[in-house]
Amino acid sequence: MSASTPDPTGRPLADGPHDPEHDPTASYALEPEYVEALTRRILATSGETAEVRSPINGAPLAHIPQSTEDDVVEAFARARRAQEAWARTSLEHRSAIMMRLHDLVLDRQDEILDLIVWESGKARKHAFDEPMHIALTARYYGRTASEHLGTKRKLGVVPGLTRVEVNRVPKGVVGIISPWNYPFTMALCDGLPALLAGNAVVAKPDAQTMLSALLGAQLLEEAGFPKDLWQVVAGPGSRVGTSVIGKADYICFTGSTATGKKVAAGCAERLIGCSLELGGKNPMLVLRDADVERAAEGAVRASFSNAGQLCVSMERLFVADQVYDRFRERFVARTQAMTLGATLDWGNDMGSLISQDQLDTVTRHVEDAVAKGAQVLCGGRARPDLGPFYFEPTILEGVTPDMTCFGEETFGPVISLYRFHDEADAVARANDGEYGLNASIYSRDGARARDLARQVKCGTVNINEAFGATFASIDSPMGGMRESGMGRRQGSEGIHRYTESQSVGQQKLIRFAPMLGMSDEQYAGVMTANLRLMKKLGRA
Ligand code: NAD
Repeated sequence: MSASTPDPTGRPLADGPHDPEHDPTASYALEPEYVEALTRRILATSGETAEVRSPINGAPLAHIPQSTEDDVVEAFARARRAQEAWARTSLEHRSAIMMRLHDLVLDRQDEILDLIVWESGKARKHAFDEPMHIALTARYYGRTASEHLGTKRKLGVVPGLTRVEVNRVPKGVVGIISPWNYPFTMALCDGLPALLAGNAVVAKPDAQTMLSALLGAQLLEEAGFPKDLWQVVAGPGSRVGTSVIGKADYICFTGSTATGKKVAAGCAERLIGCSLELGGKNPMLVLRDADVERAAEGAVRASFSNAGQLCVSMERLFVADQVYDRFRERFVARTQAMTLGATLDWGNDMGSLISQDQLDTVTRHVEDAVAKGAQVLCGGRARPDLGPFYFEPTILEGVTPDMTCFGEETFGPVISLYRFHDEADAVARANDGEYGLNASIYSRDGARARDLARQVKCGTVNINEAFGATFASIDSPMGGMRESGMGRRQGSEGIHRYTESQSVGQQKLIRFAPMLGMSDEQYAGVMTANLRLMKKLGRA
């Protein structure tokens, strides 16, 4: 594993322990006017600010104004006013704005990537996934709006005489609570179908990554969405997030399972719906007929994208006996060849963790496993020489159920290798535990892998790919089974969650009551004959 060199100032990174005083990147700061233009979008009157520092080098990036409970109330009032007018606009108008957003995120890619990298510390190639995901989402929903939202004719009870149609009515104002790991796309992607369906949004992004989320809000306005339709509030989740749940008509939450349960309880209290995209302990299976080189390449992306801080990344790798040794050698070699880097440039294979908390968790999981007898095949240590929160991509072998990283989500660049002898056993072990978010299967036999996928208790299963095949296919739903979530983003489920279905039935000529002097008994007889006839005619 090697450290890549040039930093944004063009000088090599210092060797030895990280020392902000002598760090060549420490002088970097975002232009104050740029930060000011972004943070002005937050509805915040407390007069308090929270400092945000870059995980790359610990340098201060911004002071984020903090919202009060009254600010949240005001954000909802503004959003509600904007939503009333917005809901009367045509689907064509909304779709056209969505397509402009598509172009805008591609045109402004460099600015978006710079901000994501500075704020999250991830490698630029992992940051690229974010504008790409927004462009895919905007195009998909922009192009399929009427398919999902158009009024649909349904079967009426009396053919020809009962006309029924179903409208998709917006819920109103949707609260979106998002995490820090994909700060641009997680703040925006779930909001796009909400807007398209005629809703407004009040967004509460994670406190550590407000700037990327605010740039997203700015781009929405530049694409043509009305100014007040997307409100942003800031502050700790336990206070500001709770206030958002208290006012919203629907909540879309992405974050940890522990917080997700609190969010669900808050929504239940108010009888509002919610979708929850939560944690995972995702398994990858390498079958005996897998292309080993391809599986090793996929395993690197599966385990170390965004330094493993990805809800759908893999933390458990089950490999068939027949290919175990070959796979292990190729996977370790590929991981050892990765470059770690603290720069804005392309070329780093992995960046930093986001925070001291993340570094502490990853360190604790690895130290616990090693203390209890696991072997480190590669990595296994923090890299303070690169920046405050760097940790090497780490492969463990010999992990047992008494070790924390066996079943708990690490959410870092740590993967455990397990050997299996029979596939049924591998699937049973993959299904162990309470999570069920994402799985990956490597095999040369697509049909066999698809068959096996049906036995895996995960919301998405990727064959010969880590997570991209499902995550980037926006037409397919994405979300977790069991403790990995409730509801789905993407596809028709990803937009219908923001609507109420409204059935409108129009009755012609006959009524649902005795007519022409019929008694109730005669009416029941006619209806009984009618029911029998409909069944004979094959009607649903
Ligand atoms: P977290 O649950 O701590 O925080 C997520 C968001 O919830 C933040 O905006 C936070 O401020 C807010 N929040 C915290 N407490 C709250 C409360 N009581 N009420 C309302 N909001 C509250 O999660 P995290 O640690 O920041 O993110 C990492 C976790 O998110 C991991 O478990 C990861 O697997 C999961 N995640 C899941 C997906 C997915 O799509 N399934 C995507 C990204 C991250």
